[in-house]
Amino acid sequence: MDEIVVIGGGFSGLSIAALLGKDGHNVTLIEKNNTLGGRARVMKSDGFLYDMGPSWYLMPEVFEHFFSLFNKKVSDFYELKRLEPYYRIFFEKEGYVDVYPDKDSILKLFKSFEENGDKKIEKYLKNAKYKYDIAMKYFLYKDFKNIFSFFNFRMLTEGLKLDVFKNLDRVISKYFKSHKSKKILEYEVVFLGNSPYNAPSLYSILSHVDLNLGVWYPMGGMGKIVDALVKLCKDNGVKIISGEEVKSFKYNDDRIVEVITDKGNYKANKVISSADYEHTEMQLLDTKHRSFNRKYWDKRIMAPSMFIVYLGLNKKLKNLRHHNLYFSKDWNKHFETIFDEPKYPDNPCFYISCPSYSDPSVAESGKENLFLLVPISCELKDEKIMREDYFDYLIKHIENIIGENFKEDIIYKKIFSINDFANDYNAFKGTALGLAHTLFQTAVFRPPHKSKKVKNLYFTGHYTHPGVGVPMTLIASEIVYNELKNIKE
Ligand SMILES: Cc1cc2nc3c(=O)[nH]c(=O)nc-3n(C[C@H](O)[C@H](O)[C@H](O)COP(=O)(O)OP(=O)(O)OC[C@H]3O[C@@H](n4cnc5c(N)ncnc54)[C@H](O)[C@@H]3O)c2cc1C
Repeated sequence: MDEIVVIGGGFSGLSIAALLGKDGHNVTLIEKNNTLGGRARVMKSDGFLYDMGPSWYLMPEVFEHFFSLFNKKVSDFYELKRLEPYYRIFFEKEGYVDVYPDKDSILKLFKSFEENGDKKIEKYLKNAKYKYDIAMKYFLYKDFKNIFSFFNFRMLTEGLKLDVFKNLDRVISKYFKSHKSKKILEYEVVFLGNSPYNAPSLYSILSHVDLNLGVWYPMGGMGKIVDALVKLCKDNGVKIISGEEVKSFKYNDDRIVEVITDKGNYKANKVISSADYEHTEMQLLDTKHRSFNRKYWDKRIMAPSMFIVYLGLNKKLKNLRHHNLYFSKDWNKHFETIFDEPKYPDNPCFYISCPSYSDPSVAESGKENLFLLVPISCELKDEKIMREDYFDYLIKHIENIIGENFKEDIIYKKIFSINDFANDYNAFKGTALGLAHTLFQTAVFRPPHKSKKVKNLYFTGHYTHPGVGVPMTLIASEIVYNELKNIKE
């Protein structure tokens, strides 16, 4: 049995640790923060329970599959609720629409946007489902070790059908004319750290993910999934250490033999890092053991950072649902402030999660739990005074859009932004989501699961294939787990 150290206690670290613990290895997981969950940590304050990061539970089959590896079911750990509506979208000066689960209402909605919108969306979603099925079978759970394994016969035939090489906005524009239709089908790529103008149209599968497979919520919050993974780790003998930071390694030639933290040393014959890839490479490894140099990282397109506000209100709001999105008419202006000319966006698109709409456990009765999010560039200065100014601007903007005032009812407020991502998670440049999913940062073009220089160092997590998002990190860990199972040393 191996002596394995896992660095990081987010979804990917916890999932790989539990899988390896199940096989009888001696696994120690080391997390720098005092609480587990990584970007999906939970924060309790003033009677409110906040999911600090993810709030959309998508691709439920991936979670079900992951737990089945332990002969368990999702329902053994938490109760899943399908949200109704899935979400509310506010359009600039054009009111709002609610997106409901049933197919007829989705067809009607798109018909209300444009002529034959119902037929177009039916065709588009059929195609998105087809691509999703191919992606699940040949793409997402596969490790692509090199360019040849990626461009194999199957990938060349099936990959063409996946539209890997086309641009999402252009493909959607061939089907739809209305900006509302396009925005509902394009906003999901922002979750992957992209703008629709530089995302491969492969990511149209995300419309199948939200409109067909549905938007779900684990009662008690996303922290319930973290709790489930922690339980699986503990049940499978994983030793979890939190509040301790890995600082460097001791080597024997091209192998790590010890993991050195700020509090001690841990012997290891295998190490798996789920911390941000750039941090592991550039801060933890010494120069000679790095697979990539500074130039490589400087050339990467990083996903945006975020301006997040956790708010507690002393009243309920009438005009919000569980998930709420606002898209400005010319949303390209917002994307330009993220990817082209960094600045705090005017008239920003935003997302508001209001879990207290569906879950009484996250706020006391009569109170509202809000999570506000604006994607911003990692290149911006993040200073206290700017935060406060932008906060004031944002609240006025939101009150205006949703048609309801709440500034005077704020009883809890915490801002979390670029510097917090960098300090709390060792995130490169303070990115919230890691590497953006551009064409040349997808699949084989993401950094590999196995170090090129250190024989016993592996990587899981959102920087690696298949990438960003909670379900993807579970898949990345399964890929690494399968690879480790096949290694005979
Ligand atoms: C605000 C936000 C909203 C999101 N919304 C969604 C959503 O709705 N749905 C969805 O599916 N996905 C969402 N995502 C994406 C998803 O949360 C991430 O892709 C996923 O959580 C990443 O998990 P991870 O384990 O790879 O990385 P992380 O969660 O970052 O875990 C890495 C861990 O390593 C630790 N670490 C770093 N350096 C060291 C060190 N030297 N020593 C020890 N530990 C270290 C960090 O503290 C961290 O805990 C969101 C992300 C954010 C930030």
